[in-house]
Amino acid sequence: MTNDKAGATDGMGGCQCGAVRYRLDAVPSGTHVCHCRMCQKAGGAPFMAFVPTSSFVITRGALSIFKSSDIAERGFCAACGTPLTYRSLPGNLTAVTLGSLDDPNAFVPHTQYGTESRGTWLAEALAAPETAVSDWLKRKGIASVGNHQHPDHET
Ligand SMILES: [Zn+2]
Ligand SMILES: [Zn+2]
Repeated sequence: MTNDKAGATDGMGGCQCGAVRYRLDAVPSGTHVCHCRMCQKAGGAPFMAFVPTSSFVITRGALSIFKSSDIAERGFCAACGTPLTYRSLPGNLTAVTLGSLDDPNAFVPHTQYGTESRGTWLAEALAAPETAVSDWLKRKGIASVGNHQHPDHET
């Protein structure tokens, strides 16, 4: 069973600055989140979300690689630091970071790993008061922002 709604354009993504872009040529399955300490460090975040695929193609630039253990390497953009991939060693299965996809809602995580390291405050944080960026900007009196992020489509 999969709830992933894969379409032709759902499987494209890249880093924040646009120096690295990629495409998924195979329908992903097994989208998951991982709370392990390595993912926390690699993402600089409480957890990472991954979309594994058997066919992953770099369409612009090149990944920089950090071999985080004997069984895994992680790809990122050297120019802007965005975490982009996780690859099991040895193997051809690459997982891309869900947030680096042009449509971060294209695939739904249905499994959690590394739960022994899950933030003890995570559920509490997700139930905390909510503010949209537009409301935050209004509150701060910021009329417009010069956005340096690559857009969520090919350029
Ligand atoms: Zn970049
Ligand atoms: Zn992990």
